[in-house]
Amino acid sequence: METITSPADMKQFSRRLRQEAHRIGFVPTMGFLHQGHLSLVEQARVQGRCDRIVMSIFVNPLQFGPREDFEKYPRDFDGDFQLAWSAGVDCLFYPDVRDMYPDGARTTVEVAELGQVLCGVSRPTHFRGVTTVVSKLLNIVMPHVAVFGQKDAQQFFIVRRMVQDLLMDVELIRAPIVRETDGLALSSRNVYLNAEERKQAVCLYQSLMQARRLIDEGQRDAQTILRAMRTHIERHPSARIDHVAIVDTERLQPRTVVEGPTLIAAAVYIGTTRLIDNIIVGEEP
Ligand code: AMP
Repeated sequence: METITSPADMKQFSRRLRQEAHRIGFVPTMGFLHQGHLSLVEQARVQGRCDRIVMSIFVNPLQFGPREDFEKYPRDFDGDFQLAWSAGVDCLFYPDVRDMYPDGARTTVEVAELGQVLCGVSRPTHFRGVTTVVSKLLNIVMPHVAVFGQKDAQQFFIVRRMVQDLLMDVELIRAPIVRETDGLALSSRNVYLNAEERKQAVCLYQSLMQARRLIDEGQRDAQTILRAMRTHIERHPSARIDHVAIVDTERLQPRTVVEGPTLIAAAVYIGTTRLIDNIIVGEEP
C-alpha cells in the first residue's frame, strides 16, 4: 500500500493509474477507521467495479464549527494504516492541512439551501466545509467512482447535487449503514460515549425502526411518525433531540405525507455526543 501526503504526488499517482487503464475507486474519510469505512472499500470494488482503491484520511478543519470537536476528534494513523491495508486499499492519501488549505486560498464550494436544513441548522458552515474538501479531493484523486456512506445521508445528497450541478466526471455510490449488533450505527464518535450512554444510544436506531414499522402498517402521516419517534427517544434520560425529520431526498424539504423516496433522519445528543442515523424509504429497489 502506498502512502502519499502531497497533493501533487497523489495527482501523479492517479494519472499513472488512469494511463494504465485502471478504474479508481475513492473512499474519503476522516480516519479513526471502523468496519463502516472498510465496507465502502468493498463497495468500490464490487459495486463500483474498481480495481484500484484510494482512501483519504483528512480531518477537515473547514467542516467543524468553532465550538465543535476538531481538536479532540479521534485520530490513530497507525491503526488506520493497518485497517486500510487489511481491507486491500492500494493508496492511502494523508494530506496536511497546510497543503489542502494553503495560505491565500479563498475558494469554497457551497450547495445552496440543502446545507442549511437538517444538520445544517445546528451546523451552519458544516456542509460548505464538506463540499469544499470533497471538490478538492476529487480534483486531486481523479477517481472514476467515489463512495459515501448513507450514515451521512445529507452529505451524500448534497455531494450528489454538487456533482450534478458542476458536471463533475465521477460516479457516486451510496453505501448501506454498518451497525453494531444492537443496531447502533458505527461512528468514530461512538468512542466518546460512556457505558451508560452507549446503552442509551441505541434509541436512535430503535426510533427509526419504529418509524419503519408504522409505515409498514400503513401509516403515512409524517407528524404521527415523528411524534412516535420523539416519544421513544425522550424516554432515554441521556438523550436530547437535535432534530428528527421526514424529508424528500432531492431538496431535503419536509414531507407531510410519506410517499416517494423519503429520508427519515435523526440527530440526537447522547450526553454531549451528537449522533446521527437515518433510514430511506420509498425508493425503487
Ligand atoms: P467519516 O470518517 O465519519 O467522515 O466518514 C467517512 C465515510 O464513511 C462517509 O462517507 C461516511 O458516511 C461513511 N461511514 C461512516 N460511518 C459509517 C457506517 N456506520 N456505515 C457506512 N458508512 C459509514
